[in-house]
Formats: sequence, structure tokens, C-alpha cells
Amino acid sequence: MKTLGIDIGGTKIDIVEYTGRDFRFVRRMPAVKDTILNIDEEINHLVEKLNADAVGIGLAGWIRDGKILKSPNIPVEPDRIGFSIDVPFMVENDAACFAIGLYHKMYGERIAGITLGTGIGCGLVIDGKVLKGITGEIGHTVVGDSGLRCVCGGSDHLECYFSGWALEKKYGDVRKAFETGDVYRDRGFELLARSIASIIMLIDPDSVVVGGGMANSLNMQILRDSVFRYLPDEFSPRIEKTDDRHLPAKGAALLPEVYDLG
Ligand SMILES: [Zn+2]
Repeated sequence: MKTLGIDIGGTKIDIVEYTGRDFRFVRRMPAVKDTILNIDEEINHLVEKLNADAVGIGLAGWIRDGKILKSPNIPVEPDRIGFSIDVPFMVENDAACFAIGLYHKMYGERIAGITLGTGIGCGLVIDGKVLKGITGEIGHTVVGDSGLRCVCGGSDHLECYFSGWALEKKYGDVRKAFETGDVYRDRGFELLARSIASIIMLIDPDSVVVGGGMANSLNMQILRDSVFRYLPDEFSPRIEKTDDRHLPAKGAALLPEVYDLG
């Protein structure tokens, strides 16, 4: 079965092709409003051109039973996002797709795949199965007490303190804040470490893998030291980052196979 994987994130859309053996990167587009609203056309064009049997779509949003309930980190309201695709397809959360991609890459049977981008996502694989629906939402766990309002409608969530949008609001140039080390002295970074430690205590993973736009800038040794400070010795999963920026799109391309579609 040949499939297409589409990753619709806060800033870009990635498309990959999966032949059943290998992945091939097809294209990257900016995730602007018009492109997202007309993404069907592009997908159907590629389905025909590449002769794909099915399509998997990963989207930065809250998706329950295939319905997009919320997508605060992409520039289109969820009720305006609908897909009309000529072959069988399915939509899942982009971090869940990231986790599927990690499982495919043999990161273990229990994985937390954390995406650090505009928002913070987390896909969980438990005993070889990815958790569906609105699960593993580490970015929306309650970590603060400052009364900060989150983009999701809740308050004092991790995203308010450490996410692309929160750091941009605070520092302007996020990349520079990583370079100068300001990020690591920020309370938000400590809260991120605590949240990761909590996830580890909740699911006892083999691996915690960080991806997304901010992962490149992240010093993993500082992160590991910060996380392990909170954990007993019995918990020592691998904490790594992946440089594979197409992994959510690859995981999306695996959706039809994982869910036996097509
Ligand atoms: Zn939230």
C-alpha cells in the first residue's frame, strides 16, 4: 500500500510519501490560512500523481473520533477545516503521529514523543499502541499558579510558560534566548522538566524523545539533568531528541497501516 502523510503544524505543512518500505519527502509549504483551506486540492493532486492508496493527516489540534475540536496553534478555525479526499484517509493529532513515527524507528514499546513548537504536543505509545484522541496533553497540564490564560481556554498550563508562543511573547527572538542560555534560567524550562518527569512517573517509558521546531536549539544534557533531578533512581529512560523534522509526517503516512485503512 502506498500512502501520503501530511503534517499540518503551526508554521508549516510537510508532505511525505510512504511506499510500504521507504519514505520520500515530497514538499514543505508554509501553514498559512489559504494553503490550509485548500489543502484538499493539493492532496488529491498528489494522490493521483503518485498513485497513493490512502492518506494520513496529522494536525496540531484536539481531535476526538476524527473530529477536530480545537486547533489554537494553526491559523484556521477548526470548524472550517474539513477534508474531502479521493481515497480512504484519517486525521490524528500531530504529536500522536510523531509517536507512531518513533515507534516505527524502534524507540521502544513505551514512548513519550514530545513536540516542542508553537505549542507543546505529546504522543504516547503504550505497549506498542499509540493512544488515540485527546491524550498525553503535556502542554496543557497545570503547572503554574500565576493565573496565565492558555490558548486552549484553560489557565496556568505548561504552554503558558514554555512553548513557542509563550517564549516569543517573552523574548521576541526565541533562538537567541536559547543561545544566550536565558531559556534555561527561565522558570518555564523548570516547569517543562517537571512535566516531563511527571509523564515518566505516569507511564514508565523506555524513551522520551523530543522533536519539533525548538528541539534543534535544545541542550539535551541540561534537560536530562533537570528532569532526573525530580526522579528516583528506578526511573531512567532514554531522553533524546530527534533531528528528523519529517517524523510527524512520516507517522501520519503510517496511520492508514496502523489503523488498517484502505
Ligand atoms: Zn492549555
